[in-house]
Amino acid sequence: MNMKFKDLPVVAKLAIALTFFNAWVMFEEFVIDRFGYWQYLPFYRKGIFCIWDITSIFIISILVFAKWKFVKTKCFLANCKICLDKQ
Ligand SMILES: [Zn+2]
Repeated sequence: MNMKFKDLPVVAKLAIALTFFNAWVMFEEFVIDRFGYWQYLPFYRKGIFCIWDITSIFIISILVFAKWKFVKTKCFLANCKICLDKQ
């Protein structure tokens, strides 16, 4: 049985997306907030939900829920490294 990521149920994908978002929040807490890097990030609000969190949710949602098989059919690059399994 060869199960692929796209065959996982939505709830499992949601759990994976939440795990990535949790990792991002921990990165904010333990690296950006702790060492003061937030001073150099535009629109970053320390300890508050900000545009960076919305952006991370957006990117994670695309990575986890996008129909990559469809996206790959639109790829126009020859010998594209990402689309190697393209038929
Ligand atoms: Zn490609």
